[in-house]
Amino acid sequence: MRAEMVDVTFVGGGPVALYGLFYAGMVGLSTRVIESLSELGGQLAALYPEKMVYDVPGFPAVRARDLVDQLLAQSSRFLYDVRTGETVQQLQAQPDGTYILRTTAQGEYPTRTVIVTTGAGAFTPRRLALPGADRFEGKGLQYTVPQLERFRGQRVLIVGGGDSAVDWALSLEPLARSVTLIHRRGQFRALEESVEQLLSSSVDVRLFHELRAIEGDERVTAAIIYNNQTGEETRLPVDEIVLALGFVPDVSLLRSWGLDMDDNAIVVRSDMSTNLPGVYAAGDVVTYPGKVKLIATGFGEVATAVAAARRHINPQVRTPLHSSSMKW
Ligand SMILES: Cc1cc2nc3c(=O)[nH]c(=O)nc-3n(C[C@H](O)[C@H](O)[C@H](O)COP(=O)(O)OP(=O)(O)OC[C@H]3O[C@@H](n4cnc5c(N)ncnc54)[C@H](O)[C@@H]3O)c2cc1C
Repeated sequence: MRAEMVDVTFVGGGPVALYGLFYAGMVGLSTRVIESLSELGGQLAALYPEKMVYDVPGFPAVRARDLVDQLLAQSSRFLYDVRTGETVQQLQAQPDGTYILRTTAQGEYPTRTVIVTTGAGAFTPRRLALPGADRFEGKGLQYTVPQLERFRGQRVLIVGGGDSAVDWALSLEPLARSVTLIHRRGQFRALEESVEQLLSSSVDVRLFHELRAIEGDERVTAAIIYNNQTGEETRLPVDEIVLALGFVPDVSLLRSWGLDMDDNAIVVRSDMSTNLPGVYAAGDVVTYPGKVKLIATGFGEVATAVAAARRHINPQVRTPLHSSSMKW
């Protein structure tokens, strides 16, 4: 079914798109956001809703879930069309310079400009090659920590050595009965400060350890772990296992859109324009010399992208200088 034409469509509804929706609304553009997950918020909502974020300007510390709520509140000052549970598959240029976005739900979304904010892409959790492990999924074995409260009083085993593993261990430590973290290497791939915090916490950290087997009938009751240096095996009674092995991003969809890509990222100019006229990109999905993948940098990029999209639609408009008085 064909929807109404809008000025700007954000592909992907992460934090960068949410700020972009607000910014575009403020300069009078009509907008739409299409998100493949069932809720907006991107990595913050899907991967680390309970984690504290310390590096967003104006927020000395904010829970990821609360930051998403604040962004939604900010953007809700303006009306916009939200399509969740739909993945954009095709970007089709029209003879008049506009685009039609086609989605998995057979949606057809006409738009004057596009801002690609697909972040890490449509991601799926990396699974463990452990025979029989999948039968415990949802029965004590999971890939994310959507709600901390569910783990209160539980014995938790976290597997992994990246930011997610370390952050979840720190978040669960105050409320779980016990938290054990195993990592197959001798060093973490996480923020140094968080690792220091972890090592001085009560979390039982075991380096050079891997998961060998999961025990249980209806639910997980124990994990068999082993030291990959010595081969020594240990049986850990646990209630919950969190496999924080990362996500496999799927950016293959973008490849068919005719965008200039470098590895898995879209190459943008300083105004966030891509090689396709009227198509801009911002946030984790873009690359340029010096790119840093942070929420704060994405916010700046999307404001630039909106301003450029607005000039594309109406080349006569003035570029905003420094005010948010809505009198541009
Ligand atoms: C564990 C962890 C901790 C982090 N901590 C911090 C921190 O403390 N501070 C900080 O600044 N940054 C942090 N980051 C990075 C931060 O989360 C990202 O920089 C930020 O989420 C990027 O936002 P985005 O909107 O560009 O993309 P994303 O958050 O990745 O959102 C993109 C959205 O697009 C959707 N999508 C993808 N493809 C399609 C498609 N074809 N159609 C429709 N929808 C699609 C995805 O489902 C997703 O919801 C952390 C990241 C992780 C993993």
